[in-house]
Amino acid sequence: MTDTALATRRVPADLPDRIQHYIDGRFVDSTDGGTFDVLEPVSNEVYLQAAAGKKADIDLAVAAAKRAFDEGPWPRMLPRERSRILHRIADIVESRDARLAELESFDSGLPITQALGQARRAAENFRFFADLIVAQADDTYKVPGRQINYVNRKPIGVAGLITPWNTPFMLESWKLGPALATGNTVVLKPAEFTPLSASLWAGIFEEAGLPAGVFNLVNGLGEEAGDALVKHPDVPLISFTGESRTGQIIFGNAAPFLKGLSMELGGKSPAIVFADADLEAAVDATIFGVFSLNGERCTAGSRILVQRDIYDEFVERYAAQAKRVVVGDPQDPATEVGALVHPEHYEKVMSYIEIGKSEGRLVAGGGRPEGFPTGNYVAPTVFADVPRDARIFQEEIFGPVVAITPFDTDEEALELANGVKYGLAAYVWTDDLKRAHNFAQAIDAGMVWLNSNNVRDLRTPFGGVKASGLGHEGGYRSIDFYTHQQAVHITL
Ligand code: NAD
Repeated sequence: MTDTALATRRVPADLPDRIQHYIDGRFVDSTDGGTFDVLEPVSNEVYLQAAAGKKADIDLAVAAAKRAFDEGPWPRMLPRERSRILHRIADIVESRDARLAELESFDSGLPITQALGQARRAAENFRFFADLIVAQADDTYKVPGRQINYVNRKPIGVAGLITPWNTPFMLESWKLGPALATGNTVVLKPAEFTPLSASLWAGIFEEAGLPAGVFNLVNGLGEEAGDALVKHPDVPLISFTGESRTGQIIFGNAAPFLKGLSMELGGKSPAIVFADADLEAAVDATIFGVFSLNGERCTAGSRILVQRDIYDEFVERYAAQAKRVVVGDPQDPATEVGALVHPEHYEKVMSYIEIGKSEGRLVAGGGRPEGFPTGNYVAPTVFADVPRDARIFQEEIFGPVVAITPFDTDEEALELANGVKYGLAAYVWTDDLKRAHNFAQAIDAGMVWLNSNNVRDLRTPFGGVKASGLGHEGGYRSIDFYTHQQAVHITL
């Protein structure tokens, strides 16, 4: 982006200049008055101050959530009553999708059209769990003449929700929807890089009629506010999405309290393209799979394994298409890759690109795109001939950077696909359905898409294996995570 373009870029109207916590139905500052800077990724200028929560603020938020759980109406309401409020939340989110997308795109650098899609997904998450709790059926067992046994499903208490900066509003909804639907109360600690869209939840919830104290939000750094939430004895559940390394720290910190943990962690997901695949569809989908959402996507297909017979043609077509991906101002509807979220993350992605130059063959991108002297812009970058021990093959980059590697046999493809510490998603492209199913079953991945883009069905499990996560969310698995299932036995 040139200096003139920077000067004339679109800035959303009515941006706040500070963000507070929301505790017990009120917006409040940190008890010690502390704040932190929030940057926007096109100019990298500080555009607001957010309250920097610490242990004292988490204590207040947890106390409010515990009161709302112990004494308030929320856990005691009929599922139908909670469902009505959740549907209202979904309607309000949907009616504000343009504003939400505008703010999310400004704060995180996501292309505006993709941010709009994420806002709609957030509404859908609420709608889905609103319906699910009304349809919920629990098991009953009869031992004729002796016993009847049934399951009494109960909300657990205060759920601590800790979320990352990629598609922040949608990922928050993915936890808030089921946690609230099941009758828990919550304390949300959103990512410190992107607190803007999260600050809208309180108004939406108030308008929809959620009782005070049920939803609480504390902004702040992970090592301070997040850490205090994980270590709070009155928070029996932590649902965390973020880096695998952070997940390990949280796992350790939660261990003394034996907390319920759901961990959605990092990925280095393979897309495997066999010689018999529909090449055009595979190229289109694997381009979208790594460059959409700026490549800042946990399920990005960031390693593409291509069968040798079509390897050269694939690389050539892929590189040509990557060069056509439109990089631009996140607020411009024509933009396909915007600006990365933060200069720290930009430096990390750029350092991997430099490493990649000695590990593979650069065939597209490779640094800052032309015409963008400032801002966190990265040209869609493609490395071919990447060996399996390369760092850009093994490590999560979380940006618009992809590694392409050739293979000869199905066995070699499987070995390459499974030869990393992660196991979140996988994508398989082949015309041979028998091979596709066998391959899917052998691969270490929580989710596999066959001849398909990453399209979610909210009823299916979502979660990773190995370093990509622990436990599953999605459909009834989310309901299971956020509830106790008590067995009640009656002698006849
Ligand atoms: P991160 O781990 O740095 O931070 C995530 C959240 O954890 C933030 O709110 C942060 O403040 C908080 N945090 C940091 N340290 C903490 C601590 N010691 N105690 C408690 N909380 C702490 O992750 P990020 O950089 O924000 O997000 C990107 C990562 O998230 C990538 O690895 C990506 O793959 C992963 N991710 C996974 C999924 C999934 O569903 N599997 C989805 C989206 C993102």
